[in-house]
Amino acid sequence: MELSKRIRNVRASSTLAFNTKAAEMRRSGVDVIAMTAGEPDFQPPPHVFDAAREAIELGLTKYTPAEGSHALREAIVAKHLRENGWKADPSDVIVGAGGKQVLYNAFQALLDPGDEVILIAPYWVSYPAQVEIAGGVVVPVRAEAANGFVPDPDKVAAAFTPRTRALVLNSPSNPTGAVYPREVVEALAALAHQRGVWLISDDLYEHLIYEGEFTPVRPLYPEGTVTVHGASKGYALTGWRIGWGVGPRTLIQAMTRLQGQVTSGANALAQHATVAALNEVEKTAAFQTETRAAYVERRALLVAGLNRLGLHAPMPAGAFYAMADLTQIDPDEGKASLRLLEEAHVGVVPGTDFLAPGFARFSYATSTDNVREALRRIEKLLG
Ligand code: PLP
Repeated sequence: MELSKRIRNVRASSTLAFNTKAAEMRRSGVDVIAMTAGEPDFQPPPHVFDAAREAIELGLTKYTPAEGSHALREAIVAKHLRENGWKADPSDVIVGAGGKQVLYNAFQALLDPGDEVILIAPYWVSYPAQVEIAGGVVVPVRAEAANGFVPDPDKVAAAFTPRTRALVLNSPSNPTGAVYPREVVEALAALAHQRGVWLISDDLYEHLIYEGEFTPVRPLYPEGTVTVHGASKGYALTGWRIGWGVGPRTLIQAMTRLQGQVTSGANALAQHATVAALNEVEKTAAFQTETRAAYVERRALLVAGLNRLGLHAPMPAGAFYAMADLTQIDPDEGKASLRLLEEAHVGVVPGTDFLAPGFARFSYATSTDNVREALRRIEKLLG
């Protein structure tokens, strides 16, 4: 009994694989410090829980429209106007089960077999997988550690071919934490515009910036930009699975047609709660300020510690990840990460699937005590 060729080519996410291995070791009694997680370790603020309870009391048990409730799409439009200075209409918005589903919809709606998508590497592991599931071809452009993993627009320009269909921008970046300076974002948007290709701007980590500023992409190229965002990172709501996309209406309608046949509207209770997360501006901003301060402290501790141990890591300006060079432990990042897990009991994600050979991703979405203890264990491993 054969599986389809398409599914046989789909790899399991390496982030999840290392997380699972760390969790298994924990279950068998090993005290593992997992720095693998791609999610905040904080709980969302109380007003979001109140709204979720209210959703139950209101009896919100029915399907919402496939594109998301009108109230949430209005709240999304208001958020982008208030925080990012650009206007959209609720009909330009689709809500999905996380930014991940929205990205999946976008690649399905935009790519024909053989179409090329330029990805800045190191990249988030699901981009290449989703591009390939849609029949697309990944064209990676490496951003160097020496430049803090900020891409060189000239190198990106050189990657365009007549088959290029889309360019993906992710600043702040998972896995590098790089925040692209405004001039780099402008140069990349100008390239997409000049070449007439789609620009997919993954803004999931917008609220997690510690140096520099977030550059909204959509105003630079409104007719070709798909903004992807969500409740997971900046609002600490990973498990409630709410993400959204904003873009040209014909594309959003196409993505909605697809989603309508695959999953329909996202979870109604979570949509209602996300309205509160977006609309109760002051409470949410206070939560984001507080969590940012915690990340800043952990980042300083982790990056200084890694560099002191000779595991060179550029200082990330955003997100909650640092990419460290593990060649000192083993030139093969997979083996080095396995040694960290099995011998030091510190879980990290090897750079292999991010296209970051020699590196591993350390998530500092964990307590300062854990960061300190992880560094102590790594120091011991290094002797
Ligand atoms: N984009 C990036 C860069 C991510 O790191 C993630 C999650 O790890 C996502 C999108 C999708 O997140 P979600 O589906 O939880 O909204």
